[in-house]
Amino acid sequence: RADLAMYQAKAAGRNTLRFFDPEMQQAVTARAELEAALRRGLQQQQFVLYYQPQVDADGHITGAEALLRWQRPEHGLVGPVSFIPLAEESGLIVPLGEWALYTACRQLAEWARNPATARLQLAVNVSARQFHQAGFVEMVRNALLYSGAPAHRLKLELTESLLLQDVDDTVRKMNTLKQDGVCFSLDDFGTGYSSLSYIKRLPLDQLKIDQSFVRDIDSNSNDVSIIRTIVALADSMQLQVIAEGVETTTQRDFLLQQHCHAFQGYLFGRPMPIADFLSRLQTA
Ligand code: C2E
Ligand code: MG
Ligand code: MG
Ligand code: MG
Repeated sequence: RADLAMYQAKAAGRNTLRFFDPEMQQAVTARAELEAALRRGLQQQQFVLYYQPQVDADGHITGAEALLRWQRPEHGLVGPVSFIPLAEESGLIVPLGEWALYTACRQLAEWARNPATARLQLAVNVSARQFHQAGFVEMVRNALLYSGAPAHRLKLELTESLLLQDVDDTVRKMNTLKQDGVCFSLDDFGTGYSSLSYIKRLPLDQLKIDQSFVRDIDSNSNDVSIIRTIVALADSMQLQVIAEGVETTTQRDFLLQQHCHAFQGYLFGRPMPIADFLSRLQTA
């Protein structure tokens, strides 16, 4: 069979690469199609930000996390899990992430002009490839400058794996933006492998407890002790702590008992279009 494949590949011409495994061929085609659709989607402005409320101990909204959605023709609303990995691999995350940041900053600038919304913070996810680009700091500064958004209302969510990829680059970039007033949250905290001595060197403002620990609070005593440990750690490092993926009042009450005072999750609101988020603010 290999001989036959070789023969067919040769017959197809010297510089042609052919796959004779139909499944592999299909996967390659699907990937190429998705990448082309992503590229087109960016040009045709098919992306939109959804806003998920972040609340304090009393349930008052203190801000939001901006989450990407793709309004893909004939596919409906597509979540980031299905396109971020490919966007990362292909490098499209750079223009896509830039779009998300500019859009978020324009929203922040608008909030800043109204006393009722001026104190809201907006968290934006940053992926590793985007952060480690040479022009990342400049890009964030430009987004703030051109939109007029107040830097201290912008919170960048970074992951542990991002921080570990190039430690010197990370520390330098974070310190520069921190001096401008930008805040930093460590997303999905507890799932990575960062050493505490390293984390201490970073100008972080917040640890975000990963939703996998919150999910099993009722049943898994390991997760309960992990949460206790993260909250204690945050306290000792004078960082804020927020729990993500809070879905039940049991989970919220346990977190409150553990002195975690900031929450995000379906219990307080799903990610929603900006208009819905704004009307939620008025009724809250
Ligand atoms: P993340 O930053 O950890 O965001 C939290 C995810 O948990 C979101 O999924 C959110 O919808 C979901 N979630 C929130 N509350 C609950 C809850 O109570 N229960 C459950 N089961 N899930 C909840 P989403 O929107 O699908 O985003 C997935 C991931 O995609 C994000 O994880 C983030 O890593 C990435 N992402 C989203 N937007 C962007 C972006 O603009 N840039 C980059 N680089 N990544 C993004
Ligand atoms: Mg996040
Ligand atoms: Mg997270
Ligand atoms: Mg997560």
